[in-house]
Amino acid sequence: MDEDVRPWTGTVQAHYSDQFADLDDGYGFKFETVPMHPSFQALAAPWESAAQYRERMARLPRTALVGILLRDRFGGRVTVDQDGAAVVDYRVSRYDAAHLRRAIAAAAELLEAAGAREIWVPLARAITYRPGAANARQDWLRRVDAAGWGPNQLLLVTFHQMASCRMGASARTSVVDSEHRVWGIRGLYVADASVFPTSSGVNPMLTVMGIAHRAAGVIAGHLS
Ligand SMILES: Cc1cc2nc3c(=O)[nH]c(=O)nc-3n(C[C@H](O)[C@H](O)[C@H](O)COP(=O)(O)OP(=O)(O)OC[C@H]3O[C@@H](n4cnc5c(N)ncnc54)[C@H](O)[C@@H]3O)c2cc1C
Repeated sequence: MDEDVRPWTGTVQAHYSDQFADLDDGYGFKFETVPMHPSFQALAAPWESAAQYRERMARLPRTALVGILLRDRFGGRVTVDQDGAAVVDYRVSRYDAAHLRRAIAAAAELLEAAGAREIWVPLARAITYRPGAANARQDWLRRVDAAGWGPNQLLLVTFHQMASCRMGASARTSVVDSEHRVWGIRGLYVADASVFPTSSGVNPMLTVMGIAHRAAGVIAGHLS
């Protein structure tokens, strides 16, 4: 940006857009502003050389972030290895990647409208463009595709893990029943974000608190 934005200060999480939240059957993405502290940009910025990385970090005060909150339809799996440790396997499905690509294009358009001079996405490689030239965004998207969407190529972060012990009506497709009880294990209840039936597509904390409150009431009822 031409002026200081200082993305780590002020009212940092006050804007969002759900224009694209329902692209198909309730799945899509939202935009949210979020605070960008130096450590966050350090995680996201491409690294091709120390000098380039240093220069990008020095420009943090003039950097604005559009956060993409993707509601993914097809999640990953958490299994247990021989030592009893959790093993997380997550790959973005083709279906969700199509929404993500559309989100990246729309976020770039949004930043252009806000007056951004240079736009980049958290890829391992530095793929940037300067708005102005004809087809600049389309050309950039082609270069983003070419840089790759695989592991260690594009930074994806999860703040909102959910639905890993789904609540449902059958032991075949879920882990807990409608009363938070783990199917087949007497006295074991789950009361957190993992019982969401699907990814909710919104920041989940209030729902998590609601679920915990409900579970507490259910457990109290069973104990009395
Ligand atoms: C950086 C960040 C920012 C976020 N911002 C927002 C936001 O703005 N709005 C929003 O709605 N949501 C936000 N979230 C998401 C929200 O914080 C989580 O969805 C929510 O806290 C999940 O609640 P939970 O009870 O399911 O799990 P947690 O809050 O993770 O609680 C799990 C608890 O279990 C404990 N535990 C783990 N293993 C064991 C064990 N073996 N024995 C005993 N205890 C154990 C952990 O210490 C932890 O206290 C954010 C998350 C992150 C990481």
